[in-house]
Amino acid sequence: MSDKSSRFPLSLSSVVDKKKSSGGGRDRDVAGRPQATTQTAAKNAAQSSQRAALKPVQQGLAQALRAPPVPPRAPVVPAQRLLSAAPAPRTAIKNVMTVTQTNDSHHASPLASEAVRKAMVARVAKQGVADAKVLAAMEAVPRHMFVEPGLASQAYIDASLPIGHHQTISQPYIVARMIEIMRQNRHGGRLDRVLEIGTGCGYQAAVLSRVAGEVYSIERIKPLHELAKTNLRPLRIANIRLHYGDGMLGLPQVAPFDGIILAAAGLEVPQALLEQLAIGGRLVAPVGERQQVLELIERVGQRDWRRSTLEQCHFVPLRPGTV
Ligand code: SAH
Repeated sequence: MSDKSSRFPLSLSSVVDKKKSSGGGRDRDVAGRPQATTQTAAKNAAQSSQRAALKPVQQGLAQALRAPPVPPRAPVVPAQRLLSAAPAPRTAIKNVMTVTQTNDSHHASPLASEAVRKAMVARVAKQGVADAKVLAAMEAVPRHMFVEPGLASQAYIDASLPIGHHQTISQPYIVARMIEIMRQNRHGGRLDRVLEIGTGCGYQAAVLSRVAGEVYSIERIKPLHELAKTNLRPLRIANIRLHYGDGMLGLPQVAPFDGIILAAAGLEVPQALLEQLAIGGRLVAPVGERQQVLELIERVGQRDWRRSTLEQCHFVPLRPGTV
């Protein structure tokens, strides 16, 4: 495993001129357009009705995203400030149609993205996620900044989306659910240090950064590790450490972790990760091949782990080594 890591925050000047990496090998339809992929068969039906309901919102966001960029001399607003802007009013969804101001075509106007993000969080809550801290974290992270510009208008539907290299950004519901389960520990949700296996585009790491003291995230595909760096840089999140390497080995030099989340499914959870869990810590992982289930493993003693099987899920495979 490489010990390469990235440190945040990075300077703003290293961020503002950077173009987003375009990424290769994205899933596309016959017309060459990028395609959303669902994460559970059970959610397909729900998603199609959500899509219908969201259409005006998406059109509004798409319109905001298409809006002409601000003149070159306009000041750059740090994303952190956009995040802390006053919340959009409940009726903001109809305002989405008229919002045209945006910093660049990928970073939708804060009003437009806040409104659709609130709608996304409301759906996640309706699907059963009750942890207010997790829902607040989901509401704060601009998911559209983690997908390619062509998919930004779909960023807030409850589906996984292609991020290149045959990988996906996880479906919002499952991101929230896994973090909620991890937080149900005997310390009332306190998580000093967590590990994520499978950084992908960096979205879940950003959500985790709002519920944990320190977030370590490992990605095995170099261009995705770089993509996550590029996506996270403008958000200037100080408590995320990105590592390029084989996550199946974990990060023994940093362990123990109060929580570990796997964003890719193996046939079993690697023993190295179980060993790196703190006593009382919780690991949440999809396990299986075509039929996958979410597993929760709690470390209850030096040599004791308790395993429980939760719901069905569908993730990309966990693979060894680096590319
Ligand atoms: N966390 C992401 C999901 C990324 S998809 C999100 O926020 O949406 C899962 C990722 O796991 C892929 O990028 C894949 O390359 C990565 N992965 C698979 N096996 C891995 C391994 N052994 N170590 C690290 N990353 C791995």
